Amino acid sequence: MTLIIIVILLIIAGIVWYLTKPRPRCPECNSRNVKMFSQEPLSSRYFEYPSGGPGGGGGAMQLVYKAKFRCRDCQKVWEKEITETN
Ligand SMILES: [Zn+2]
Repeated sequence: MTLIIIVILLIIAGIVWYLTKPRPRCPECNSRNVKMFSQEPLSSRYFEYPSGGPGGGGGAMQLVYKAKFRCRDCQKVWEKEITETN
């Protein structure tokens, strides 16, 4: 019985994660049926934790890139800057 409950909880967690995941929307028709077709790196920098991260000080790489999207519904193409921290 316990196993079934764990599986159900995992499925619910997966659905919540899928629904809250930030997904791009078309600025023209508000559709979520968009596709990222190009990624162009703009800059990257090393980001240091102010008060020593896990393992006594550390940092993360921050990558800024320009992504191009196309809407599958109205064929609109637009660009967006995305910052990713690793
Ligand atoms: Zn659109």
